[in-house]
Amino acid sequence: MAGPQQDIQPALETRLVHHAYRPPAEFESPAVPVHKGSTVYFPTVAAMRSRDWKDKSAYTYGLHGTPTSFTLEERMATVEGGQFCLLAPSGLSAITVVDMALLATGDELLIPDNAYGPGKAFAEGELRQWGIATRYYNAMDPADLARCITPATRLVWLEAPGSVTLEYPDIPALVAVVQAANQQRAEGARRIVTALDNTWGAGVAFAPFSLGVDISMQAMTKYPSGGGDVLMGSVVTRDASLHRQLLLCHMRLGLGVGANDIELVLRGLPNMVLRYHAQDRATRELAQWMQQQPAVAQVFHPALPGSPGHEHWQRTATAAACLFSVVFQPQFSAEQVDAVCDRLKLFKLGYSWAGPVSLVVPYDIASMRQQPWPYANRLLRFAVGLEAVEDLKADLLQAMAHLA
Ligand SMILES: *Cc1c(COP(=O)(O)O)cnc(C)c1O
Repeated sequence: MAGPQQDIQPALETRLVHHAYRPPAEFESPAVPVHKGSTVYFPTVAAMRSRDWKDKSAYTYGLHGTPTSFTLEERMATVEGGQFCLLAPSGLSAITVVDMALLATGDELLIPDNAYGPGKAFAEGELRQWGIATRYYNAMDPADLARCITPATRLVWLEAPGSVTLEYPDIPALVAVVQAANQQRAEGARRIVTALDNTWGAGVAFAPFSLGVDISMQAMTKYPSGGGDVLMGSVVTRDASLHRQLLLCHMRLGLGVGANDIELVLRGLPNMVLRYHAQDRATRELAQWMQQQPAVAQVFHPALPGSPGHEHWQRTATAAACLFSVVFQPQFSAEQVDAVCDRLKLFKLGYSWAGPVSLVVPYDIASMRQQPWPYANRLLRFAVGLEAVEDLKADLLQAMAHLA
């Protein structure tokens, strides 16, 4: 009598894990495949021992890269005109990984006084606690940068234009100050590295490495994403040994970026240049129009004659981002300026920028700066989205009606 038929197949639960089917390899479409994996397989022990992820020649572990993350790194290196890129989970973590990779106890860091605030907060918090001192220089005065450099200076941050107030510095002049200081250092002494926060330029307004910087960092949260829905940062270099130093610190910190977030950025990147220029046009039109409003004392936008550093922008850039800032006439109270924000309908109150929705934030600049700020009033920073300019003007007009 025959017993139950001998089933040589593994049980269903095993077959659901180890499935024999392999799809054919030739699928191609505009989308970059979203590869996921903490675990990565190796065909042999020899492969496990010999594979190197650091030069992107192989895969070893999810944190060390996938076809999806390597693809975005290569594309961001292209955006910035650099050669090497690493991705961080936010723009801020891209700033802090540069600081941590390059600075040790006893070193000094220089940051523009008008730099992105949370980067200054990291310097005042963790870096100070680790015995790394920070000095703040006036980015509009290369001589002030020269005065701030000491033998302990190791890293100089640059930002064009300044955060919120949008003063446009002379980046080549600032880089020249650092290069001159490096030339005076003794043979074998550690060089000062320059790192640019290029979130505003995004790789579109100017080519960062043509200005002489060593590192270009971006909050990809802004233009590369373009959706207001992803947080990510990039650190791009042209120097292989500098990249290696950054990459090893990045690995030891365990910084990783999720495949679904990478997918969103890869989808937005092909139209980033179009978005940049469309938002630039709309922003310039609104900034010029705001300058003519009687309640307005000053508009900050690097492409406007009279805006601080306009001549530097004109010499080194060919486009401008979607930001402008406004100071109202001194007779208006802080409450009246806040009320403009509360009355806006299309402009939402919110941080970040370069997404589809126009945004506004009121800032009390004097409280954010070491150096004096000449305006008593609040400053409103506007970020222009993708709405029709005429609708945005109408929104601003109705929100400013109580200032008439
Ligand atoms: C937004 C921004 C950052 C930080 O990016 P997050 O992704 O929000 O951390 C850094 N620098 C500048 C100039 C920014 O605008």
